[in-house]
Amino acid sequence: MASQTALNPPRGECRQCWRHAYDSREAHAHLGPREDCPACVDHMVHGHPDQMIVR
Ligand SMILES: [Zn+2]
Ligand SMILES: [Zn+2]
Repeated sequence: MASQTALNPPRGECRQCWRHAYDSREAHAHLGPREDCPACVDHMVHGHPDQMIVR
């Protein structure tokens, strides 16, 4: 189960990246041990979509 911290990012943080950082094991459970998370890589390369930033 995701922790309260993982589900409640502070203002200015990207919801997806916050959850993937604080709930890494669950968020990345579908990935292999050496696999990069496509969602995390996408944000790293293209930046965080505006609608995912907490206002
Ligand atoms: Zn992000
Ligand atoms: Zn991720």
